[in-house]
Amino acid sequence: MHQVLVVKDKRYTQHLDGIFHLENPKRIKAIHTMLQDPSLAGRWSEVIPRLASPEELAWVHTPDYIEQVALTAGKPLFAFDLDTQTTETSYDTARLAVGGVFSLIDEIYKEKANRGFAFVRPPGHHAEPDKAMGFCLFNNTALGARYLTHHWGAKRVMIIDIDAHHGNGTQAAFYDTDEVLYTSWHQFPGYPGTGKLGEVGRGNGEGYTVNVPLPRGHGDRDFARIIYFLLKPVALDYRPDMILVTCGFDLYQHDRLAEMQGTPAGYAMITHLLLDIAESVCGGRIVFIMEGGYSIKGIQECGLRVMQELCDIPSLNGKQLTKIKETNISRFSVLKKVMEVQRKYWRTLR
Ligand SMILES: [Zn+2]
Repeated sequence: MHQVLVVKDKRYTQHLDGIFHLENPKRIKAIHTMLQDPSLAGRWSEVIPRLASPEELAWVHTPDYIEQVALTAGKPLFAFDLDTQTTETSYDTARLAVGGVFSLIDEIYKEKANRGFAFVRPPGHHAEPDKAMGFCLFNNTALGARYLTHHWGAKRVMIIDIDAHHGNGTQAAFYDTDEVLYTSWHQFPGYPGTGKLGEVGRGNGEGYTVNVPLPRGHGDRDFARIIYFLLKPVALDYRPDMILVTCGFDLYQHDRLAEMQGTPAGYAMITHLLLDIAESVCGGRIVFIMEGGYSIKGIQECGLRVMQELCDIPSLNGKQLTKIKETNISRFSVLKKVMEVQRKYWRTLR
């Protein structure tokens, strides 16, 4: 049985407490309830998060921008834009979200385990190097990748962003480098508007950004096929030292901010396939980081299925998986187009 590490802390409920917002403390409370599910009893252990320092935040964000967020500390309410607000303790909570990812990575490098989930908020993948947006202050996943390269000496990090929205901030942070491979499927057209097929990176980073823009209404089988036919071969070629999963729960069919058709069983399948990639390419080292998801029921049910897969509790129908692997992808036109664009960069796709 795999040891599973979980970052869980009551302080993540402090950001936007008492404010009407879709990205609210109930999301973390739902996770804490889910973690008490009897099926998970005794199967995971807690990691205490630390605060990321301003120097560490500067690996991705500009000093000016970090200062702007720091100045919101103690203010009852501040708005960066129509979507993105802060309350008294948001600066520290956001640093604790980044630090939670760091603490989890530390435990994995100390070989306490090879897999885990950082249940943090505020989310991060829309945060640009110099700008807050889309409910995000600091980019938790991007900073996690930089922590791996700068602190732990990782040569290559692969990010798989399964949130229903494109991670514009994460893409921007690594657009010019081959040290971090950013991959994402997302609803398109949709917020934030980036993540087109032809956005593949620039300079040294050309070929190290993989975007799968999906029209609304795609579901479990499509997500599974993207992982199996595209992301796995790319990972086998890239050989990352670790995989970071930007795990939004807004692929869920009843999410309030996206129009995909994902189900809890789909999240189990996604997790199963991602774990298989990690086992094949990086000794199983994989970290999930909570991103969006705005249905409390969706967060709870999809989160539970992800945790059960991490904890080796079998819940998948093997026949379904075989069927995915045997499908003909020629009728999945978006995936076909992405493969055509990416073939040039990855010999495992040729
Ligand atoms: Zn999202």
